[in-house]
Amino acid sequence: MDSYTQSVHFFGRSNPEELVRKYGSPLFVYNEDILRRQMKRVAGLLPNHRFTSNFSIKTNSNLTILRIANEEGLNADAMSPGEIFVLKKAGFLSERIFYVSNNVSEEEMQYAIDEGVIVSVDSLSQLEMFGRLNRGGRLSVRINPGVGAGHHDKVVTAGKKTKFGVAAQDIEKIHDVAAQYDLHIIGLNQHIGSLFMDYKPFLEACRNFLHYAEEFDELEFLDFGGGFGTPYHKLADEQEFDIESFKKELDALLTEWKQQTGRDVLFKTEPGRYIVAESGVILGQVHAVKENYGHKYVGTDIGMNVLIRPELYDSWHDVEVYRDGQPVTGGEREVYSVVGNICESGDIVAKDRELPVIKEKDIVAVLDAGAYGFSMSSNYNNRLRAAEVLITSSGEDILIRRRETLDDLLRCFPNS
Ligand SMILES: *Cc1c(COP(=O)(O)O)cnc(C)c1O
Repeated sequence: MDSYTQSVHFFGRSNPEELVRKYGSPLFVYNEDILRRQMKRVAGLLPNHRFTSNFSIKTNSNLTILRIANEEGLNADAMSPGEIFVLKKAGFLSERIFYVSNNVSEEEMQYAIDEGVIVSVDSLSQLEMFGRLNRGGRLSVRINPGVGAGHHDKVVTAGKKTKFGVAAQDIEKIHDVAAQYDLHIIGLNQHIGSLFMDYKPFLEACRNFLHYAEEFDELEFLDFGGGFGTPYHKLADEQEFDIESFKKELDALLTEWKQQTGRDVLFKTEPGRYIVAESGVILGQVHAVKENYGHKYVGTDIGMNVLIRPELYDSWHDVEVYRDGQPVTGGEREVYSVVGNICESGDIVAKDRELPVIKEKDIVAVLDAGAYGFSMSSNYNNRLRAAEVLITSSGEDILIRRRETLDDLLRCFPNS
């Protein structure tokens, strides 16, 4: 029986064992074909409209991946000066970067203005700040439509109980502040939440958003946000986000809006996870197999410093086991918790999973780790951040970020 990674030739001409031998463990491995496939899907979402898809790079800001996104014609969202900085290094022109700011200092706002990227402000007070810094400027305002969606409270990013955006009922006040500083509101954006597999609530939010747009005369673009889901339970046959049906319905909605209002603007979306999650796998090594009071544990080097999603959101990631370069799919099975090497009892990548019987030195592959994986990783316990490798379309493996060294841990100390 094939494993998932084998069925999609995830590791190209290599295999997990060789990769770990060559680059060390834990290791983020990305597959260029899957990455480009997803990028093409979002880039081609609305062929009948003026449209760009912005890659939300907080999901993954590896320079090589950003360069691939640039080649595939995606624009990009930045959430910080650091993201603007790396996007420019990756070759994105300012006009293709959208700064979705949230509670930023004047210095940060000024940085974005000086870099010539379009800024979205997230509150009336930040709208005033923008006005003070850049009277007469052009910008976008993030609207909070009062409803959200997502897989966990922590990733629902619109609605009456979230910190994001300007409440739709305050639209008059947006106009007041804009008038005071001669500002041009050329865009409106929203992002209602992350990881939905059912696009209906998203379409409803778009429909409402289009109504708000009618209250602004100078709009050049409307940005509907991201959040398109990834099938994290693919080993249990969870189906992909139905982008084809979504595409048709969104297209129809926008066509209808253009006809009814006689308006035409550039439409944008800003997916992140959908683009990169499935293209990434984390490889780790099994260093211990043990039983504590009836519970079996597989002790690996994939701690919460490497992948924090399971701890932060109770997220599920499928796990595969490799031995001698081959997936272990048949044979006896056991229920294990796959855990890391961090001094925290919550350091669990996969809880109570039925897996093939695991031995020391086996390799575990944590699937769908390309989004919010490396980008959320840390030096907790003074562990070194992992290396990243790309399996190119021709099946080669290339290093796209070196592993940190012990010296990197001392980089910021004045008298090391
Ligand atoms: C995080 C974020 C995104 C991307 O969300 P995904 O669920 O990864 O698609 C898009 N827009 C904004 C404003 C975000 O904060």
